[in-house]
Amino acid sequence: MPAKTRSRKKPPALPGPAARLKSLPPYLFAAIDRKKKELRAKGADLIDLSIGDPDIPTAPHIVNALRRAAGTPENHRYPSYEGMPAFRAAAAGWFKRRFGVELDPKTEVLSLIGSKEGIGHMVLAYCNPNDVVLATEPGYPVYKIGTIFAGGKIHELPLLEKNRFLPDLSAIPASIARRAKMLFINYPNNPTGAVAGLGFFEEAVAFCRKYGIILCHDAAYTEVVFDGYVSPSVLQVPGAKDVSIEFHSLSKTYCMTGWRIGFAVGNADILAGLGAIKTNLDSGIFQAVQEAGIAALTGDQTHVARNNMVARRRRDILVKALRDGGWEASPQQATFYVWVRAPWGMTSAECVERLLAEAGVVCTPGSGFGRSGEGYVRFSLTAPDDQISAAAARIRGMRR
Ligand SMILES: *Cc1c(COP(=O)(O)O)cnc(C)c1O
Repeated sequence: MPAKTRSRKKPPALPGPAARLKSLPPYLFAAIDRKKKELRAKGADLIDLSIGDPDIPTAPHIVNALRRAAGTPENHRYPSYEGMPAFRAAAAGWFKRRFGVELDPKTEVLSLIGSKEGIGHMVLAYCNPNDVVLATEPGYPVYKIGTIFAGGKIHELPLLEKNRFLPDLSAIPASIARRAKMLFINYPNNPTGAVAGLGFFEEAVAFCRKYGIILCHDAAYTEVVFDGYVSPSVLQVPGAKDVSIEFHSLSKTYCMTGWRIGFAVGNADILAGLGAIKTNLDSGIFQAVQEAGIAALTGDQTHVARNNMVARRRRDILVKALRDGGWEASPQQATFYVWVRAPWGMTSAECVERLLAEAGVVCTPGSGFGRSGEGYVRFSLTAPDDQISAAAARIRGMRR
């Protein structure tokens, strides 16, 4: 009976998750996902406007570039972590055409497996335990989560409607600013849809120069714009390159969220630090995807404007219905989100609950993006037109 000869002691339990995982804020969509499942199981016909993920397919010339490149054996090997020279050159060329700023593709452009990867790794590269990271809230959750993973301390900068959802940098105590390593800003902004002019970027660059802080601009939505608005880059500010990097993504611009491709631009030394983390933790973007990225950045751009027309049409349908229903909605100039105050004094959670129960519409509670998001909800416009129209009609019918 060989089993008997084994130890009689119970084997030790496997370790539980590390403290850094336990200290994470609850996943924004977990509670909504649970509710959605419950209602769908009961046969409810739900319209999901909670996730920002383009429903429009990637343009054919981009898909075809991937098809061609996938058949090339050289592309099957490890890519270089910093990106193919041709991809970085394409990114620099796009940046020059779009913002009029010259970049050295060798040192001032770094490829990313999506900008989320770059943002998370950026904090690991520059934040020691107990260092302060400044980030706007409500906001994209990764600034805070990256900081938690690095053992840093987040100091949040509230985005308030009365300040047009721009942070008040003068309200940051000097003692905090002196301890800060990084400042994360994001314009056009998710979730508020707010935009920032060059004047605000000048202020942010001056603030970071004053205190020796790295300015990290998350620029995922610079191309998702309407009504003639043109979004600036932080790097257009004179001297910005001394203290700044900017994260760009092909995800939202080219409807390529699933492809995982983006890039960071700006200060060469700062990018080298981010690159050092990347060399040790990831192995770059599949070269065939980089070839597709080159096709996206250098090819015909008319589909970008066309997609924006679609989002604008949907925005107008939804905003009109909200107003007709008594909500205080106004059309945003950028991003495919509608950020709106919950009507009739409801909290974010109450509003999301009622939209689900009475209209079968799923949206995101503003409070999930940060404290200052309380009292707001976010609708995403990345659902087909007929669904947006149906959601609009149902919302219009809701009563106080
Ligand atoms: C979508 C999004 C990103 C990340 O996009 P990637 O697909 O990882 O490039 C970054 N920041 C904001 C604000 C976003 O909404």
